[in-house]
Amino acid sequence: MTNPATPEFLDRLRAGLPEGRVRVPEKRYLEEPRGRFAGQAAAVVMPGSTEEVAATVRMAAEAGVGIVPYGGGTGLVGGQISPDAPAPIIVSLERMSAIRGVWPEENVLIAEAGAIVAHIQEAAEAVGRLFPLSYGAEGTARIGGALAVNSGGVNVLRYGNARELCLGIEAVLPDGRILHGLRRLRKDNTGYDIRNLIIGAEGTLGIITAASLRLFPRPARIGTALFAVRDPAAALSLLARARDRVGEGVTAFELLSGTGLGFLDEVGMGLRQPFDPIPEWVLLIDLGLPPSLDPDAELEAIFTEGFEAGEVTDGLIAQSGQQRADFWRLREAVPEANRKIGAVASHDVSLPLSAIPAFLRRAEAALLALAPLRINAFGHLGDGNVHYNVYPPKGVRARDLGDLRERVSDTVHDLIHEMDGSFSAEHGVGRLKVHDLELYGDPVRLDLMRQIKDLLDPKGIMNPGAVLRPRQ
Ligand SMILES: Cc1cc2nc3c(=O)[nH]c(=O)nc-3n(C[C@H](O)[C@H](O)[C@H](O)COP(=O)(O)OP(=O)(O)OC[C@H]3O[C@@H](n4cnc5c(N)ncnc54)[C@H](O)[C@@H]3O)c2cc1C
Repeated sequence: MTNPATPEFLDRLRAGLPEGRVRVPEKRYLEEPRGRFAGQAAAVVMPGSTEEVAATVRMAAEAGVGIVPYGGGTGLVGGQISPDAPAPIIVSLERMSAIRGVWPEENVLIAEAGAIVAHIQEAAEAVGRLFPLSYGAEGTARIGGALAVNSGGVNVLRYGNARELCLGIEAVLPDGRILHGLRRLRKDNTGYDIRNLIIGAEGTLGIITAASLRLFPRPARIGTALFAVRDPAAALSLLARARDRVGEGVTAFELLSGTGLGFLDEVGMGLRQPFDPIPEWVLLIDLGLPPSLDPDAELEAIFTEGFEAGEVTDGLIAQSGQQRADFWRLREAVPEANRKIGAVASHDVSLPLSAIPAFLRRAEAALLALAPLRINAFGHLGDGNVHYNVYPPKGVRARDLGDLRERVSDTVHDLIHEMDGSFSAEHGVGRLKVHDLELYGDPVRLDLMRQIKDLLDPKGIMNPGAVLRPRQ
């Protein structure tokens, strides 16, 4: 159990840091995108340097006061929000947003933790390189937060998730020591991998203050298509076809459901439907190819092969940058429409690729036995990652269905567990899925996690209540 942040402690913080670093928390620090948690905080601290982060953590550790590290606040599992007493302090990295260096010839960039993901993409583009981490929240999420939750996004298929894009980190440990690990090395076999312990720890083992990141050559030619497919099994056959043709050139392979596309109309997003009538399943495919390959010709060939095999029923290949952006806007608008409809329950699950069609069939049958629900299954199909969101019938609000949320989530997660999948593919555990981790996690792994937490953070001050339940 942590201690309350007393007025004396806050005075010490103010005295130990430059003017203006310690503030009264504005509302935005206490809210999260889905409105599931309402946070509390004694103060927001906005350090301007790694030394200031370290000084803050040392003072909090001495007083036993909890710390919630904060990036862009876009996390979807409540990791950045602490609803529990005693109110912790929030440490926001937003002032630390500099790009410390770029080495285009090495394909490396070093950014401070508060750098916005989209700004890192732009900094890479400015030197003719690609930073491929990309998702709907990239204009707000910060790289420290993205690494803390090991974000995925739309390009994992080709480039890996945030962990795989990181060569090294600098972090402040729960006792205030600074871990200097901003290596630019591809090879460094020198003992335990502490970097990869802190990445994905959701701020429970320390505060990431900077990261050394991998860049890539920009694909010379890009092609984008929307294909209406017969069913998810056909979508997976098409993925195999596409990879047989262009290998790693398939950079994104996103599934959209007819239900999700219908939601765009239902909530009046003002977007033009690409197919009429709306198909049951649509794929959004991006190819990024070298100069020698024509992406449109490849997409056409994939379409023709898929059409002849009965997998694809209709298709559109983007003819301009604008059309490409329009296709992606459809994909990016789906979560927005979902929010407006209001889910009974949302799930971020992953499965072995070949198990996905059976999961979708079995989950739908089990949920329809509970109530006349609508299901919007969409997401990064190529990575085996499905956002499996469940909605009330048209005209009914989720809250009018009573306490269905828990039964729906238990049904989905039990099935995922049975089919050897994960109840959290890319959003993390946060505070929302602590119970799921306890229920479905391997007991030995959980025991090791607890031992590591106790070793690095014996007072339990780092993001108390996230990932692991705090010790009483
Ligand atoms: C519209 C939308 C679309 C999204 N799409 C995707 C997607 O496609 N794929 C995907 O993986 N995720 C997606 N997300 C979730 C995404 O992972 C997070 O939004 C984001 O990466 C977290 O970054 P953040 O800076 O906002 O972190 P925050 O929300 O501020 O924090 C997230 C967690 O990281 C911790 N943390 C923050 N900064 C640090 C730090 N410097 N050091 C240590 N811990 C820290 C926090 O304590 C918290 O536990 C989406 C979110 C939204 C709102």
